[in-house]
Amino acid sequence: MDSTRQKTFKPAAEMEPFRKTPGTQAQKIDKSTGEEAGKKLDLSMPVRYVKGVGPARAKLFARLGVQTLSDLLEYFPREWRFAPEPTKISQIRPAENVTIIGIIESVEYQGYRTPPIFEALVADDTGVCRIIWFHGGFLRDRLLAGQAVQVTGKATTYKGQLQLTNPKYTVLEEGSLESPRRFEPAVYPASGRLSEGQIKKIILPILDELTGLIDEFHEDTFRRKANLIGRRQAFEWIHSPPDEQSLGRAKRRLKYDELFLMQLGLAMRKYKMHNLSLAIPMQCNERIDKRIRKRFPFLLTKDQNNVIAEIVQDMADNKPMNRLLQGDVGSGKTVVALYAALLAIASKTQVAMMAPTEILAEQHFLSIERYLRNSDVKRVLLTGGITGRKREDLLKRISTGKIDIVVGTIALLHHDVKFSRLGLVVIDEQHKFGVHQRAKLRKDTTPHCLVMTATPIPRTLAMTAFGDLDVSIIKHSPPGRGKVITRQIEPQDRTKAYEFIRQRLEAGKQAYFVFPRISGDGGGAGDEKTHLKAATDGYKFLQNSIFTEFTVGLLHGQFSSQKKQAVMADFRRCKINVLVSTVVIEVGVDVPNATVMVIEAADNFGLAQLHQLRGRIGRGQDKAYCFLFAEGPNHTAKSRLEIMTKSNDGFEIAEHDLRMRGPGELFSTRQHGLPDLKIANIVDDFELLVMARKNAFKLVNQDPILSSANHRNIRKALLQKFGKTLGLADIA
Ligand code: ADP
Ligand code: MG
Repeated sequence: MDSTRQKTFKPAAEMEPFRKTPGTQAQKIDKSTGEEAGKKLDLSMPVRYVKGVGPARAKLFARLGVQTLSDLLEYFPREWRFAPEPTKISQIRPAENVTIIGIIESVEYQGYRTPPIFEALVADDTGVCRIIWFHGGFLRDRLLAGQAVQVTGKATTYKGQLQLTNPKYTVLEEGSLESPRRFEPAVYPASGRLSEGQIKKIILPILDELTGLIDEFHEDTFRRKANLIGRRQAFEWIHSPPDEQSLGRAKRRLKYDELFLMQLGLAMRKYKMHNLSLAIPMQCNERIDKRIRKRFPFLLTKDQNNVIAEIVQDMADNKPMNRLLQGDVGSGKTVVALYAALLAIASKTQVAMMAPTEILAEQHFLSIERYLRNSDVKRVLLTGGITGRKREDLLKRISTGKIDIVVGTIALLHHDVKFSRLGLVVIDEQHKFGVHQRAKLRKDTTPHCLVMTATPIPRTLAMTAFGDLDVSIIKHSPPGRGKVITRQIEPQDRTKAYEFIRQRLEAGKQAYFVFPRISGDGGGAGDEKTHLKAATDGYKFLQNSIFTEFTVGLLHGQFSSQKKQAVMADFRRCKINVLVSTVVIEVGVDVPNATVMVIEAADNFGLAQLHQLRGRIGRGQDKAYCFLFAEGPNHTAKSRLEIMTKSNDGFEIAEHDLRMRGPGELFSTRQHGLPDLKIANIVDDFELLVMARKNAFKLVNQDPILSSANHRNIRKALLQKFGKTLGLADIA
């Protein structure tokens, strides 16, 4: 073992960058040489330790994200190629691609024919097959009778007989008929000056030594029960699998470990938040509960009540709440948030409510205003538009505790906003904030935190990206909502659809037309139907040619916020019958009288977005209609639109959405301040994820900072893999 190590790893002295500098450096060299020479190989060492990796290659590796030996081990092949299963000669069928393995019975070169032919008869224990190569003269001294060969090609019939023509062949070593597949199946993702072959030549020779440095961290009994192979074995097989089955088992183990370590990091983070920081406990009682509920002109739904019960329990604790509230658009989340806010205020603390944009913050403010009319709760909207003296004054009232609720954007995170006693933070539309921003908010205070999202997040994502949050779900919207009927409209039925919409307009209802683009220019030549894709053209077309007797309005993102508000106000007051817009209406707009939505070029939108858009209608009692127009959508777009016509359930749609994206497009966990996974995929490996999560949280329950000797290896692996990205430094 030691002698191999000598061969493939450089002696430490060779690593010393100052080796050639005499004099003053001497001591440093000696010291470091002495230290490193005696030091055991370790996976945290830089790749420069590997023979064949000089400074230049180390740089190239760094660009691939490979800095250490451990990174090198985790530089997984992107593809594995196995020889096809051989077919017995008697089983060959015409037109099939087959691989046969057999002995060459005879060879013959027919140089007199045009073109000249090299023919071989290959036999296995079931029959004989004729194989010919046109222009095969060069094979005369390569293929000889008696040799064992593996031949892969397409079977054809010639004069009623099966043969393989111009197939690929490999001469097999003697005695290798039994296990003839000598493949190096791994294909590494290469980049520019570091070729796939070079990477292979570097990794494969040292694989044994590298895997020798890996510590197992699951107990045998658990591994047997969970059907997981050893960690060393898994790393060996992922790089150099003897067969497909082994590869599958290696993947399973490595995926599990990756998910397990990630969940472990999240579990520890959650533990830390829960146990190492203090929040203000807020006791609810019947009197407070009654007073809060009086604010709502309706009875809360069962789902709302359940979530409120969870929140009340969280907030009564002196550990900060960290809860994600998911619910479809219009499911009644704001009401729940307001309940929490009023509870915090009853406990003499302040509340910050944040939305991702100013428009949404305003919308939020308006909707809580409705419930708080005539109450003595002091609430303000703090936006970027408020400046100078007015802002100073507001900030002062916030910092002296004269304001109870501040509604705003992330600007509330800025340093100049100081609260006197911040008890609760409500964040709307979590997606657009990262985990880190949440962390930032918690710097000097530890308020309870409620995160709301109107874009349903599939369970898989919620468990990974938001693995350190507790999750509540409002599944059913308040009663009395009109049904939304969704239809895909074929181009030839467009006129019929216009007529249908006209009837709704005549009945006093309003309609949205949503377009994927603002304007048609830049669309390129041949794009003559811009009025079906661009809002500005569509607006002119609808006003001048279709709905001439009604008022059509236009709204898009290039309008000033003043103009946007004016248009929205007209639409709300029904001065505009048809509102043509881009996705600016995606969130936050609430006009119950608008019961029709047309989405033009709907194949341009993703599922989640279509669902968000559709959430703008069906907010009143009446039946609502969503029409999806698309000119010649491709196959995936078509099935996307079909899901929309079949389901109104945001969670179901979100799951489909996630599944329909290719793995490459997969929702980046990095977006959420988490590391991207190298081998596991949270959609495809959902079962492993569930198992990993359960076990990780169980472990943290038993040993919160993994201090026991039994868990030393797990801890080491965790810090090595996710220590930085999950901010676990203080656990180390
Ligand atoms: P979200 O924030 O989830 O989009 P909101 O809280 O804004 O939903 O509620 C959407 C609409 O439903 C609002 O007009 C609200 O007044 C109404 N609503 C909320 N809860 C109920 C309920 N329990 N019963 C009837 N209407 C409700
Ligand atoms: Mg809302």
